[in-house]
Amino acid sequence: MSRALIIGCGGVAQVAIHKCCQLDSVFTDLCIASRTKSKCDKIKEELQNKTKTNITTKQIDANDFNALVKLFNEYKPEIVMNLGMPYQNLIIMDACLECNCHYLDTAAYEPEDVDDPTWRMNYEKRVKEKGFSAYFDYSYQWEYKDKFEKKGLIALLGCGFDPGVTQAYVAYAKKHEFDRIDTIDILDCNGGDHGYPFATNFNPEINLREVSSEGAYYEDGKWHSIPAMSIHSKYNFDGVGEKDIYLLHHEEIESIAKNYPEIKRIRFYMTFGESYIRHMKCLENVGMLSTTPIEYEGKKIVPIQFLKALLPDPASLGPRTVGKTNIGCIFKGIKDGKEKTYYIYNVCDHQESYKEVGSQAISYTTGVPAMCGAMLILKKIWTTPGANTLEIYDPDPFIEALDKYGLPKRESYNPIMVK
Ligand code: NDP
Repeated sequence: MSRALIIGCGGVAQVAIHKCCQLDSVFTDLCIASRTKSKCDKIKEELQNKTKTNITTKQIDANDFNALVKLFNEYKPEIVMNLGMPYQNLIIMDACLECNCHYLDTAAYEPEDVDDPTWRMNYEKRVKEKGFSAYFDYSYQWEYKDKFEKKGLIALLGCGFDPGVTQAYVAYAKKHEFDRIDTIDILDCNGGDHGYPFATNFNPEINLREVSSEGAYYEDGKWHSIPAMSIHSKYNFDGVGEKDIYLLHHEEIESIAKNYPEIKRIRFYMTFGESYIRHMKCLENVGMLSTTPIEYEGKKIVPIQFLKALLPDPASLGPRTVGKTNIGCIFKGIKDGKEKTYYIYNVCDHQESYKEVGSQAISYTTGVPAMCGAMLILKKIWTTPGANTLEIYDPDPFIEALDKYGLPKRESYNPIMVK
């Protein structure tokens, strides 16, 4: 018997809801709470006769601390899965502490208003001290470590695929394959085609903020920043074929570098097609990716939020997306005194995901790990309290759960390395 509450009802949340309902022996009671309640009601309607999970729906504005506390006190979830926006991570963590619930999310905190003077001051300081300029970083959420520890609660940070599974892959490689890891390349390939000239596969605001920012990688104890998209190469992906890959900054680099200080270099690459980059550059050049509000006919409009309203909803891409994703980590290091390379990854098919849960593979590869992480907390298999990323937990039960619930690992002991 466990009670879980999911915040958000977008692409990722809808997959997690399907998967929780498939595992109704663990997720016996599920509350879906989001800004637009009709979306929660629609999925409840679709699932309630196919599962024993008792589904409740609620309207919530996750920016409202008092409303969150009221909801959590009334529903009494053991875990709150924040599958909405990363802007509300801290407020939802506060509400979880207030109401004694575990917490889980899939993306590191970043503020909605990046012009807020207090946040900006801290941000400028961090850019100088650490050397990467992304809006997100884990410091805000790691500050909650003691508070969660003292209450014996877990805040599982970044439990999607990347971040999430990629960190579990690092822990798995260290546990089973290496005495010492020297380098990691995290490769995120989306070989899917949705047929639109331009669309993002997850929340457009977060996606475009991430991709249009400076890139960064970690080497010899330091961050190295590069202009956006300025390092690129090609890689031939199992199940997909050859794709252009671009070096980006990504949040798990920060936590892997912290938890495995012996690793000399960590890089993250993502695939992009020529059309995506051309559209993104053009939108950036005309100011449509700006997060700073402008006055338009007496109204304040945030350009990137207006753009989001024009773009296809990622949750609607499922029926039209064909092809596969391939996401994983390539390692170089030492085992028993000898140099070794190892690649662990998952290949996920957009149409198979759609047939199973009505969503494309980007939402699927995020929603399934979120369900698996929540399950391990609810079953008390992962018990270390605190605000933690995935590297610190035993990777084996998580990788086993992924194998079982839709994201099986593939391995190669002779991978082609990224040039
Ligand atoms: P969507 O935009 O599809 O869904 C976001 C949901 O959150 C919507 O249902 C939205 O409501 C709801 N929401 C937004 N603001 C509020 C609020 N103030 N109060 C309550 N609900 C709110 O996003 P995705 O599902 O694509 O992404 C969800 C999260 O997953 C993001 O943080 C994203 O960065 C992360 N992600 C992580 C990945 C990983 O591998 N780790 C990969 C992909 C995504 P409404 O329906 O009204 O708009």
